Amino acid sequence: MKNKVALVTGSTSGIGLGIAKSLAIQGVRVVLNGIAKEEDIASLKNEFKQNYGIEPLFHGADLSKKEQIVELINFVESNFGTIDILVNNAGIQHVSPVEDFPDDKWESIIAINLSAAFYLTKHTVGKMKKNGWGRIINIASVHGIVASSNKSAYVAAKHGIVGFSKTIALETAATGVTCNSICPGWVLTPLVQKQIDAIAERDKISNDEARIKLLSEKQPSKTFTNPEDIGAMVLHLCGDFAKNITGSNFVMDGCWTAQ
Ligand code: NAD
Repeated sequence: MKNKVALVTGSTSGIGLGIAKSLAIQGVRVVLNGIAKEEDIASLKNEFKQNYGIEPLFHGADLSKKEQIVELINFVESNFGTIDILVNNAGIQHVSPVEDFPDDKWESIIAINLSAAFYLTKHTVGKMKKNGWGRIINIASVHGIVASSNKSAYVAAKHGIVGFSKTIALETAATGVTCNSICPGWVLTPLVQKQIDAIAERDKISNDEARIKLLSEKQPSKTFTNPEDIGAMVLHLCGDFAKNITGSNFVMDGCWTAQ
């Protein structure tokens, strides 16, 4: 793993940040991406340097824009020559019944949660194949397997990314490149905190009560997965022993989809 190059999209927060840290601990040269304030990026870089001895690169490409995705890939390749590990993680959410679902929210969710993975894969997989080694890991969701109401765009994008991963796994089989998706249930990140805040406001309950309510509705373990737990799964999939793990979904959902 040491000195491999990893691009983790949406890694300024939540799951992506947990994955980036897990990779950095192993000496991987990590490139961070996301939408964040300059001072937050500076403090993240500093945190990585102090804790893992590696200052990550950062590129703030907006993944809803295909030209910026190409700029991001050029940035990584001009600094490191190649991308060995691509983690398509960036994602957003919007919750609303379909008849009220704003068009622009639908379009952004499909662009960021699904199409960005297509463009990033399209422009990196050729070099991975040439190098005879590569890992593409897509952070899908339980919503890539089952649905919840009021999340039409998110569920459509996540079902899409699960299918996309399988296709790329088939196209790269026998090349040294693997492609898998990870399907988490609830992970306590800013994306989920917004949904907890909405429950607290709607039901006039405290934040702690709203967290328990959110977990109780879907996740029988009644425990959140941590971003670092997902980082550990990414590390597993990056190992050479995982060369034959490809085209699979790794569900980390506390029994959500077992029901
Ligand atoms: P988060 O809100 O904490 O982080 C999202 C990241 O994506 C941030 O770094 C943000 O800057 C980045 N991002 C958002 N829009 C972007 C854009 N246009 N261009 C570039 N970067 C952009 O969210 P999270 O919970 O860590 O979610 C990460 C991924 O995990 C998402 O794909 C999400 O669907 C998936 N997921 C989350 C959960 C959960 O419970 N939190 C469960 C299953 C799957």
